[in-house]
Amino acid sequence: MSIKIKPNAGVSMVGIQPQTVLGMVIVNGVFERHGLDMVITDIVPVYENFHKPHTLHWKGFAFDVRHHDVAEEMREAFLEECQEALGREWDCVQSLNNFHYEWDPE
Ligand SMILES: [Zn+2]
Repeated sequence: MSIKIKPNAGVSMVGIQPQTVLGMVIVNGVFERHGLDMVITDIVPVYENFHKPHTLHWKGFAFDVRHHDVAEEMREAFLEECQEALGREWDCVQSLNNFHYEWDPE
């Protein structure tokens, strides 16, 4: 299983932070344990207003992963597994189409 960038999604790595890279490696470990590829749908936004202004995506401290590969009834537990693996400095949130992960130590 592997990490993939969603094609044609305008996903940019400009300004990505090292914490985010390690976060991706850790989350990929959870996907691997479930036998799934991890498909990244956003890192640093290419277009303005794509995310709310306060988001850590703009600073390179967040990434989104497609969640439709994880069965709907499993998503909450899956996210808890991610949270446990990432530790307390990370926030893991489920949105409409994605899991959102951000490094927010405060
Ligand atoms: Zn996000």
